[in-house]
Amino acid sequence: MVDDKLRTPGAVRDAERWTAHNYHPLPVVISSAEGAWLTDVDGRRYLDFLAGYSALNFGHRHPQLIAAAHAQLDRLTLTSRAFIHDQFADFCRELAELCGKDLVLPMNTGAEAVETGIKVARKWGYQVKGVPAGQANIVVAEGNFHGRTTTIVSFSTDEDARADFGPYTPGFTVVPYGDLAALTAAIDENTVAVLLEPIQGEQGVVVPPEGYLPGVRQVCTERDVLFIADEIQSGLGRTGATFACDHEGVVPDMYLLGKALGGGIVPVSAVAANADVLGVLKPGQHGSTFGGNPLACAVATEVVRLLATGEFQRRSAELGERLRAGLEGLVGKGLVEVRVRGLWAGLDIDPALMSGREACERLAARGVLAKDTHGSTIRLAPPLVITEEEIDLAVTQLAEVLAG
Ligand SMILES: *Cc1c(COP(=O)(O)O)cnc(C)c1O
Repeated sequence: MVDDKLRTPGAVRDAERWTAHNYHPLPVVISSAEGAWLTDVDGRRYLDFLAGYSALNFGHRHPQLIAAAHAQLDRLTLTSRAFIHDQFADFCRELAELCGKDLVLPMNTGAEAVETGIKVARKWGYQVKGVPAGQANIVVAEGNFHGRTTTIVSFSTDEDARADFGPYTPGFTVVPYGDLAALTAAIDENTVAVLLEPIQGEQGVVVPPEGYLPGVRQVCTERDVLFIADEIQSGLGRTGATFACDHEGVVPDMYLLGKALGGGIVPVSAVAANADVLGVLKPGQHGSTFGGNPLACAVATEVVRLLATGEFQRRSAELGERLRAGLEGLVGKGLVEVRVRGLWAGLDIDPALMSGREACERLAARGVLAKDTHGSTIRLAPPLVITEEEIDLAVTQLAEVLAG
């Protein structure tokens, strides 16, 4: 990029000059987007194969979501939960129905939904299960990603995410992911919840062995422990079903939702559970100034309506098979392994060939944006509005990158 007419190099420099370096973004500077396509400040177009880590499941600026946001901006944007607004009930009812649960508690970011789940599980443990005060524990998995708060990083097994952020919050037991015997052995009389991603996204779209999630469900039921499914990245159509748990016919006690719930417009997260669980919260015990605000509710209600048609789940399942076929064709040709569930794929590149970062840089130069998760692993998560031809285009570009 020596062409001094390009705006990108200066824009990259400026962005790095004025921010903490808690991210290492690809050197592209996006200025507009529509559907599955991004355009940078120099007019170059890129196919989006990250979709905001699944926050953009419906693509950029989905017309129905943008219309809902515009209409709401012109009427009412914020009341706080001190007053009720006219978008609140529909959102909560429709999301609760989508989840098959009695109640919804809206928050903003995914991490807040996780924190809410932890707080509710602990209170449920003391008030309903009868755990002695201060003794509650929650079983979590190695390789987890649940967000960035001090409590959540306390039980991360990623040293980058955790190191030097202590003292850590106690009350969590970490077990290997996908190992039902280890999880069962870790549950004791003070265990209030098992908190898992049904598929580990940040870890590289790691799918647990078949039967694991039903096994977790069963042991939770038997031992009077809440099963909390963090579907913040896996949920809302990404895997070819409304929830990743659906693939194994599993219904958790609590769904944690975020990312795509905000339609790629505003941060919206939520916890959905039945009244015997969420009912433990009384006024003053938990809250959020922005949680469930009118703009968030207006957009998220349209997200729920898009999902209620089943169209996006179907697209994800069908197009996911095309993505799978394309990627499996590259195993042995630069890829060591691929894991695909719907339009969600984890690729392990032969580490002798190049790092995930290098592959993503080369893909970007060819007009496809994706992001490495760690080492030589890349996650692909295109918007669910992507077409067959666009999937083929991305697979072709990946093949050429891997061929050197
Ligand atoms: C992204 C993510 C979170 C955290 O969401 P934020 O909105 O970034 O706080 C939590 N859990 C999972 C599984 C995620 O993918």
